[in-house]
Amino acid sequence: MKLLFFSLCFLILFSSCRNRKESNNSSTDSLVESNYNDHSYSNLDSINTTHLDLELDVDFNNQTIYGIARHTMNNKGTGSAIFDIKGLQIKKVTLGPKGNERETDFMIGKMDADSILGQPLIVSISKKTNQVNIYYQTTKASEALDWLDTAMTSSKTKPFLYTQGQAILTRTWIPVQDSPSNRFTYAAQVKVPNDLLALMSAKNPSKKNTTGIYNFTMEKAIPSYLIALAVGDIAYHSYGGNTGVYAEKELIDACAEEFDALPKMMDAASKLYGKYQWGQYDVLVLPYSFPFGGMENPRLTFANPTLLTGDKSLVSVIAHELAHSWSGNLVTNNSWDDFWLNEGFTVYFEERIMEEIYGKEVADILAEIEFFEMQQEMKEISSGDHPEDTKLHLKLKNRNPDDGMTQIAYVKGAFFLKTLEAKVGRAQLDEFLNSYFESFKFKTINSKQFESILQERLLDPNKIKFNYKEWIYEEGLPKNCVKIVSKRLQNMTELAQNFSAGQPVFEPKIHYEYQKIKGKRKKKKVKVVDQIKRDDFIVQEWQVFIRNLDDNITIDQLNKADNAMHFSSWNNSEILTEWLVLNIQKGNTTKLRPEIKKFISKVGRRKYLMPIYRALSINPADKKWAKEVFEGCKSNYHAVSKNSIAEVLK
Ligand SMILES: [Zn+2]
Repeated sequence: MKLLFFSLCFLILFSSCRNRKESNNSSTDSLVESNYNDHSYSNLDSINTTHLDLELDVDFNNQTIYGIARHTMNNKGTGSAIFDIKGLQIKKVTLGPKGNERETDFMIGKMDADSILGQPLIVSISKKTNQVNIYYQTTKASEALDWLDTAMTSSKTKPFLYTQGQAILTRTWIPVQDSPSNRFTYAAQVKVPNDLLALMSAKNPSKKNTTGIYNFTMEKAIPSYLIALAVGDIAYHSYGGNTGVYAEKELIDACAEEFDALPKMMDAASKLYGKYQWGQYDVLVLPYSFPFGGMENPRLTFANPTLLTGDKSLVSVIAHELAHSWSGNLVTNNSWDDFWLNEGFTVYFEERIMEEIYGKEVADILAEIEFFEMQQEMKEISSGDHPEDTKLHLKLKNRNPDDGMTQIAYVKGAFFLKTLEAKVGRAQLDEFLNSYFESFKFKTINSKQFESILQERLLDPNKIKFNYKEWIYEEGLPKNCVKIVSKRLQNMTELAQNFSAGQPVFEPKIHYEYQKIKGKRKKKKVKVVDQIKRDDFIVQEWQVFIRNLDDNITIDQLNKADNAMHFSSWNNSEILTEWLVLNIQKGNTTKLRPEIKKFISKVGRRKYLMPIYRALSINPADKKWAKEVFEGCKSNYHAVSKNSIAEVLK
């Protein structure tokens, strides 16, 4: 029925249009509705891209990409091909192989009411067409593109460009069937200014050439949201083997040092869940405006420079992005309703990698901290407009898929697997996960399919009952969720309570003990000074200290803690954010304004900016000041961060 409906309506549409047209026809509206659920207009059931060839000219002067997207398609006999576009200018569409093309009619549907999906690009083809070429250019509305002026880069002399495709932004820089359910290979020829290097989620060069023309291939089929491009004055450091790191020249040494556990992580990950399938694995550290911690573009993770702490305390983000090479990139959620299959598995896997390298205690500390954050968010979601968003499987129809990108998918998802592990045993779960990755590699999966293989391969053979339906389809947290309690974090909580109660926990404590002195027979009484130093604890322990300070803590006490541990000048964004937010909430903003301004003017990561701006928006004087700061530095932020903050300060 659906197929018939499609062909009928295109017959009517194309009989009356030549080349580009805006549709006011109700037939396209019904088309839109039919595929809305998938967050894509494309008619994938009838025709799908199997390979994409891109020809891109990156023009920094006009901040525009001029492109040709050549889609090789598997056509099951339809007379139209539908692509997703948003903020793109379509110049012409041709059919047939390069050099032997003929121009065809196309039509652009209306923007959906909430401007979430963009517009359908409907191309007239014959039932035998398997090559569609779209000539286009990007515009100011191409949200995936972040064009950075020289002032926003480390070099201060060369500009930078990067893309962010997830969840449905690839359509803003490439006309594409933008659904995670379809996978295709791609190749690209990219022209950039010849003093810059281009990199993609593909086979990459390690250094600049003199022509500014770079060729890329991604030979494994990937979903559209994983196509990525970065252009800048970028250098490379190889760790040997198949890992390395790219960054602007000024940052490359710091990056190489910070992420030197990467080869070990690769070993640990491959030992856990099977061979790494993508050949090379590199990390590209982007400029500060990047709104996320990391993005798992295949072969080339994009990472935020706030990970460069100098003490390797945030490398779990790299473990996370590497783990996506299995969960997410190899086995992909079929739709954004099942984002938990990408992220929950990845957080579980990330913590297993961290456990292999840094031990169970550290992995448990990370898990406990995340669990706390997830519970906070779960409370907020439960009392908000969409309490059903605390389910793992979501129904995001008519909503932005970004609404599902909460700690529920990540941490509730990971605790689902941890609870399953506690029930079936680690060896059995690992065997199951290995078979899961093997059977579904380069495929997509949904919750229903996952349920049936879980039952078939893990629960039935081991005669185990497990409440997976409750976990996946019901709100909140099931009662059998495992509890992770770290002794070290308990001690830190106690330290915070003692400090809040007025005990001089950071003052030196003197005691005497008998020590053996070399060459002397008798032990000697020696004076020992004990004093807590910042290095005695890892960053995550200090986070817990800050979180557990009493609600009634005074500004005087906060200043005392800061004088002792220097939280407000710590080059660690996690600590800095916790500390600044707490101080703003307690009315200590004026004193810390220089530190706050310095931090939020430099960093563009939404995770840090949002809580700070939110805290500042409570008190009218703080809010007024925050607005001024925002006006001055908003050009340093990616649209993703800018829009969210503008909303908070409204
Ligand atoms: Zn992730």
